[in-house]
Amino acid sequence: MAHSKETGQLADEELLRYARQILLDGWDIDAQLRLKASRVVMIGAGGLGCPASETLVRAGLGRVHLIDDDVIEASNLQRQTLFLPEDIGKPKALTAAQMLTKINPLISARGTVARLSEDNAYELLDMASGKPDLLLDCTDNFATRDIINRISVRYQIPLLSASAIAMQGQLALYEPQLDTGCYHCVFGSVVLDAEADERTCANSGVLASTTAIMGNLQANAALQYLGLTKNPLTNKLLIWDGSQMQQRMMGYRKDAYCPICAKH
Ligand SMILES: [Zn+2]
Repeated sequence: MAHSKETGQLADEELLRYARQILLDGWDIDAQLRLKASRVVMIGAGGLGCPASETLVRAGLGRVHLIDDDVIEASNLQRQTLFLPEDIGKPKALTAAQMLTKINPLISARGTVARLSEDNAYELLDMASGKPDLLLDCTDNFATRDIINRISVRYQIPLLSASAIAMQGQLALYEPQLDTGCYHCVFGSVVLDAEADERTCANSGVLASTTAIMGNLQANAALQYLGLTKNPLTNKLLIWDGSQMQQRMMGYRKDAYCPICAKH
């Protein structure tokens, strides 16, 4: 990853707010400035999107854009941490962006009520003003993951993809610009398998802690990627098993014949 951006300076209130982070070994003012200069697009403002965006915004991510076409339901409140009972019926993307702005007025958060597709991606991702630094896949179904993966490969934008179901989760950070392979290289046509597609939080259930953990593991990887320009998951799939309290890494390789990312 090569960032070369005007990062400017941190104001006094930023130095104060991020003091504990800047104090960290291996995280300094330059890392904080890189985070401030970053733009992230998050697809999905639900179980994963809420904790991931909250941590990133509290940490000082400069610009976050949430895309989601859903409205808040009572059954979301168990895990979607940016929403309150009075928000039921409101659009997730706008409600989340408002809450994020309240949490950290020093950053820019916005929401768009829309469903991302290959046709509207250029416009929704504001490609005319430059590529986002990172896409976060915070969705809950395989069909949408496949679309986001295609967009990541097509526009060569790194994709940090998390999933959470029941007491299990997965996380990977694909860098198409570095030819690391893509979501399809790892999961293949399983992603379009009808049976696999059936398995969502809506019908399989999800423990509140699973989305909180996976959203924050996603934020953890994003902070290192944006702040330290380091991919902690290069060619690795992180697998979390909440019932056993176990996390393991599985290596993967780019599929030379991948229909999405192989160069023909
Ligand atoms: Zn691929």
